[in-house]
Amino acid sequence: MSAMLRCRVAIEAPQHAGLGGPLVYLCERVLAPGTPVRVPLGAREVAGIVWPGNPDEMDPAGLRPVAEVLDALPPLAPGWCDLVEFAAGYYQRSIGEVALAVLPPELRKLDGAQLALRLRKLAKALAVAPAAAAPPPRPALSPAQAAALEQFGALPDGSTALLHGVTGSGKTEVYLRAAEDALAAGRQVLVLVPEINLTPQLEARFVERFAGRRIVALHSALTPAQRLRHWLTAHLGQADLVLGTRLAVFASLPRLGLIVVDEEHDPSYKQQEGARYSARDLAVWRGRRDRATVLLGSATPSLETWQRVQEGRYGRLTLPARIGGGTLPQVRLVDMNRQPHGKAAPALSPPLLAAVQERIDRGEQSLVFLNRRGYAPVLHCADCGWKSDCAHCSAWRVFHKLDRTLRCHHCGYTERVPRACPACGNLDIAPIGRGTERLEEQLGELLRGADGGPARVARIDADSTRLKGALEAQLGAVHAGEVDVLVGTQMVTKGHDFRRITLVAAINPDTALFSSDFRAPERLFALLMQAAGRAGRSAEQAARSEMWVQTWHPQHPLYAALRQHDFEAFAASQLAERRAAGLPPHTHLASLRADARDAAAAQAFLQAAADLAPTLAGADAVTIYPPVPLAVARVADVERMQMLVESPSRPALQRFLATWLPALQTVRRTRPGTRVLRWAVDVDPLAI
Ligand code: ADP
Ligand code: ZN
Ligand code: ZN
Repeated sequence: MSAMLRCRVAIEAPQHAGLGGPLVYLCERVLAPGTPVRVPLGAREVAGIVWPGNPDEMDPAGLRPVAEVLDALPPLAPGWCDLVEFAAGYYQRSIGEVALAVLPPELRKLDGAQLALRLRKLAKALAVAPAAAAPPPRPALSPAQAAALEQFGALPDGSTALLHGVTGSGKTEVYLRAAEDALAAGRQVLVLVPEINLTPQLEARFVERFAGRRIVALHSALTPAQRLRHWLTAHLGQADLVLGTRLAVFASLPRLGLIVVDEEHDPSYKQQEGARYSARDLAVWRGRRDRATVLLGSATPSLETWQRVQEGRYGRLTLPARIGGGTLPQVRLVDMNRQPHGKAAPALSPPLLAAVQERIDRGEQSLVFLNRRGYAPVLHCADCGWKSDCAHCSAWRVFHKLDRTLRCHHCGYTERVPRACPACGNLDIAPIGRGTERLEEQLGELLRGADGGPARVARIDADSTRLKGALEAQLGAVHAGEVDVLVGTQMVTKGHDFRRITLVAAINPDTALFSSDFRAPERLFALLMQAAGRAGRSAEQAARSEMWVQTWHPQHPLYAALRQHDFEAFAASQLAERRAAGLPPHTHLASLRADARDAAAAQAFLQAAADLAPTLAGADAVTIYPPVPLAVARVADVERMQMLVESPSRPALQRFLATWLPALQTVRRTRPGTRVLRWAVDVDPLAI
């Protein structure tokens, strides 16, 4: 065998294993960059991708040959490799880790023969053209939609625009038309949504509009075989439209022409483990690289995006009103200081309760939003002060009344509810506060149905939807009018098109106003605007729709802006505050997180990392803040701490991280008392 040539191969190896860039292997012939291969690694054989670029000069004696070339598959495009390389560099992971993590897991397992077989099967399936029904008539565009599309069409390839419009303003119709244009130009369209639950709805609209086109979904709820098939269909250029969640931003799309990011502000676009990438930000980068236009849609854009619009870096398209002239629900603030309160007071203040009852009497629906599941966040013994804490976390265990358990929402530790106080034996232990279960129970007792019987109250949260199909069934009941009042967590505020809801109430949103996380008000505003958007979606009901907010701080500027549905005023005040405080988007952040069995070790590790910084080039361009515990410091017996690194310049932060993080590899081994279980960096962290 004459294995004479050398090639670079990206394989899955986390940064921390000390394997930085792609490895070098021998090959018998020139392999196109982007070709999947199998290579030996120690005693194993692993999947890899031939990576662009010339291998460093190395003594061929120490090199091993590529085991198998999977060239039944056309190579991944240079643009795809660039995207992976950029993401790896920006989020400080190894190229191989990112490259292999974003491919369908099946692809990593198959050998050449198995892959060829899958491809032959797929080719057979793809030989049958998708059914081409006559598409339904398209609505005539509103003047605002037409203007937005014209502006968008005039943007140069590779640019990004924000489509700003409230719920029901016709953003989706703009996506559909922009997709039409891209498809007509022979290009592929990628549509990103924040949550798997939202893909079927959007998919249905695209399938209906683009009968005859091939549309595939890409998200983590697909079976491995489906995911491979869909991915291959896109990679082979056979899928015209790809709809997916954040991981779909890495789909291989040889003819990509348009990327839509719906609800671009949604935190779900940020990956929270491994390479902590933002799919929204990568979409913008990818658009520029692949000469595809990018459309970011939202009623409440992220302040990062809004800032770029102000700077003229993104185009700005506005849909100022709801389609059909529907008004936005009127916002009513209930000043809780003037309502009866104390332990016995019901969750809904008397005026709100009366308003919900009025809705029921008229045959309309209400949505009551409370972002806390379970019956009560904590059980308490009034005699000795015992509380239902978790033995493994610095958190309370939540009381779930339906199955009589105390459950930790952080580590999952679950026990039967004790009959008496475990500390003193007192039989009278009581729940404090309330979650969705208790709210559901209370509303069932306080409200009458239209027929004089008890009102029909339903609950949608992570508990009620655990079983497959449960969410669909519950939503179906709401749509069918079999529910008077829907109680839910933020799960119900996203996307769903509830036609009969004319009242939305947030009963306890204040906590976010005083959170230590500087993004909490931004998230709250988005959530409330989105929740308000659930009301009055049908035009004839819009006029009498209301959004109720119970608050102890009715004078707060956030609520003032909400009353006016004034995102711009809210954004301006937040951006001014962020500027004064030196926070993103005016500065750039990374957080270094360390997990350890004891807090002292985590702290010592972070401190050692901070001590190392001044010795490195570029340290003068960053500020390193002292280590602090996370909001929930201990989870499953692991202490978690983080340290923020800030810089006014993104490139300076990037340069510093690129020298600092490799230097940290040795800290754990060389510094006493820094025995951490793991550490990781999060660039542009969302939750502080
Ligand atoms: P958004 O995505 O901003 O929430 P949609 O695109 O879903 O808004 O539009 C809201 C409703 O208005 C949908 O029922 C949609 O079918 C309808 N719609 C959108 N554009 C038009 C139009 N130009 N003419 C008539 N109806 C429209
Ligand atoms: Zn007690
Ligand atoms: Zn726990």
